[in-house]
Amino acid sequence: MKTENIIMEDLIKKAAKDIAGSNKVIALTGAGVSVESGIPPFRGEGGLWEKIDPMEFAHIDAFLRDPAKVWNILIREMKDIVDKARPNDAHKGLSKLEKLGILNVIITQNVDGLHQMAGNSDVIEFHGNFAWQKCLDCGKKIETFKISLNEIPPKCSCGGILRPDCVFFGEMIPPEHLMRSRKVSYECDIMLVIGTSALVQPAAYMPVIAKESGAIVIEINPESTPLTGSISNYLIRGNAGKIIKEIVAEVERLMQSIKNV
Ligand code: NAD
Ligand code: ZN
Repeated sequence: MKTENIIMEDLIKKAAKDIAGSNKVIALTGAGVSVESGIPPFRGEGGLWEKIDPMEFAHIDAFLRDPAKVWNILIREMKDIVDKARPNDAHKGLSKLEKLGILNVIITQNVDGLHQMAGNSDVIEFHGNFAWQKCLDCGKKIETFKISLNEIPPKCSCGGILRPDCVFFGEMIPPEHLMRSRKVSYECDIMLVIGTSALVQPAAYMPVIAKESGAIVIEINPESTPLTGSISNYLIRGNAGKIIKEIVAEVERLMQSIKNV
């Protein structure tokens, strides 16, 4: 345990040094970054997939086949959880890194809007945003908090069924988000890969683009992923909130000591 702590402290210092020496840092985040805000991930311990089958609820065909079922079992519960969630130390730390002029862009697979709530100004929402619902018939968008759940599935004023403005399994990533994500991944010199199982494509390919174009890829996750030991340069094992807070404190200390020289 003691040795593990020493290794982790060393890696936090190493990451801070790498980050402080760059102004082309980007982050790719996944559901794990919001776990400490009370939003369960899909996979892993306590994940939603332990309770329900993804293909039965999160695939677009399943939604179109039976929208009421998906609203009742998945979307309604998600709305309750996301409404209550607030940014945690991981979101706040990434916002601080932007204010320090270090972090440029976040590519997030999350749909909870917590990076923006924490103050990050450039967030690519790879899988859309749960804050909005879209009419299946006329395409009109309505803010999720304005929707009444008295009728399931909820409907637009035109009578069409509403769906979350998120990317379901079986749907395409909005091309402009995919193109920009590829571009920033290609251009960065450090990519922080935080709280993602790196199993969902094409998001999981962004670290590969970064690595192949010469960037350092740093993973923060309690578990290893398919990127660990091949694509990522190193994995800092643990919860994102604690680790990011410590990295940011160390980056600030390094920046201050450079100023004082
Ligand atoms: P995932 O559910 O597949 O994996 C979660 C990852 O987070 C795992 O690797 C796990 O080890 C890690 N993790 C758990 N707790 C953590 C913590 N405290 N700190 C850091 N890491 C932690 O997540 P994914 O890779 O993002 O893919 C799932 C898809 O589901 C995403 O595309 C996303 O759209 C969607 N999703 C979004 C939310 C959200 O918006 N918050 C929540 C669940 C799922
Ligand atoms: Zn409509």
